[in-house]
Amino acid sequence: MRHIIIGAGAAGIQAAKTIRALQPDAAIIMVSTDEHVHSRCMLHKYLSHERDEAALSFIPEDFFEDQNIYWMNNSTVTSIDTDERTLTLTDNFQLAYDKLLIATGANSFIPPVGQFREANNVFGLRHLCDAQNIRTLADKAQKILVVGSGLVGMDAAYAFLEQGKEVTVVEMADRILPLQLDETAGNAYREQFEAHGCTFLLGRKASETVINASGSIEAVILDDGTRIDCDLVVVAAGVRPAIECVQGSKIKAERFIEVDKYLMTSCNHVYAAGDVAGISGIWPNAMKQGETAAYNMCGIPMEYTDRYAMKNTMNFYGITTLSLGRGVAQEGDTVLVRHDSKSYQRAIIRDNKLDSILLQGPIDYSGVYQYVIKNQINLSQLTTDVFQLSFADFYGVDKRGQYMYP
Ligand SMILES: Cc1cc2nc3c(=O)[nH]c(=O)nc-3n(C[C@H](O)[C@H](O)[C@H](O)COP(=O)(O)OP(=O)(O)OC[C@H]3O[C@@H](n4cnc5c(N)ncnc54)[C@H](O)[C@@H]3O)c2cc1C
Repeated sequence: MRHIIIGAGAAGIQAAKTIRALQPDAAIIMVSTDEHVHSRCMLHKYLSHERDEAALSFIPEDFFEDQNIYWMNNSTVTSIDTDERTLTLTDNFQLAYDKLLIATGANSFIPPVGQFREANNVFGLRHLCDAQNIRTLADKAQKILVVGSGLVGMDAAYAFLEQGKEVTVVEMADRILPLQLDETAGNAYREQFEAHGCTFLLGRKASETVINASGSIEAVILDDGTRIDCDLVVVAAGVRPAIECVQGSKIKAERFIEVDKYLMTSCNHVYAAGDVAGISGIWPNAMKQGETAAYNMCGIPMEYTDRYAMKNTMNFYGITTLSLGRGVAQEGDTVLVRHDSKSYQRAIIRDNKLDSILLQGPIDYSGVYQYVIKNQINLSQLTTDVFQLSFADFYGVDKRGQYMYP
């Protein structure tokens, strides 16, 4: 049996490990555009000079030898022929597979604003090569503009502020971290970033650029006419699943690769996992999907069940936040809030079940909330305050998720 995995990120590496454990004698080939295996979640540490390339890796140095995996790094798959079960690389080299996993992740989306797409000082932040390009320019730059205040944008802004740069963040929404946090939790970070010199322009969009003769953007003009002078622009305005290699094949993909509950694509023997499958865009889910796909590739049926799990953690300036679930209240939901000088907590209860929770401040006992959300435990008989839950409250939960008192 020959397994080929395209992509050496969270999903691809987890799939490879799982296949090796299940099929010690199978041939496993991994192909990746990435030259080095690296954690995208740590790229801001590279920007801030806290880590070098090697310290971004999340596998042991001898991983590929130890696991007996043949890794083709610096190689990009350009097409897949599912009838012949072959794939083609950039240099026209062909590889045949029995089972194929596509774990190609995503690429930064650079919106067509002015000359963002042509300029030589505008970058997304997705791959190590982006971070390398940004760092080279950032070392010489003083004024840095970050477009987008999601987790990636704030990670980048934080790294630049740590190096004494003049940082401006432009955000379309009227608050920062709009997809991860509510206004109160976001404001706690905003105050800290501002205290460290960051300027936020909220409810504003970049609409034009001023480019110089050497192809660098010197200024960005916002929709209200504000001009922001800059030496470097980092665009953190979302990602697009990396589906280029399936174009022209029989594998169905519009915005992302379509998969069934076993993570199989529209073609037999071909699976997809991680950000490219469009189910979620976070590391732990990509790993879980890689593992699930691996089981199915090895002929052991396993459904992917964490479809709607959402988890974000962040820590800037000593403030830690964990948010579980989508965090968006609907009509009929109960929203509980507790706020004091040390912490902020917000829970959304839907149909007597915990839909989402946000914890800012101490997050030591958060495991119980993951359990309650994942298992959709019915809380109607709960006597404890929802913000004081512990596993002792769920002694004797039965199979239907109803809990029994000790
Ligand atoms: C700056 C940043 C910060 C983040 N922070 C967090 C965080 O704090 N918490 C969290 O949970 N998530 C975070 N994420 C998201 C997380 O990194 C992703 O969800 C995760 O990396 C997805 O894993 P993946 O395996 O699907 O894709 P990736 O990790 O992107 O790996 C894709 C792999 O596919 C390869 N590839 C792509 N196309 C081809 C091709 N045609 N041929 C060959 N190889 C190809 C790439 O080279 C790469 O090896 C962050 C992401 C970024 C960019």
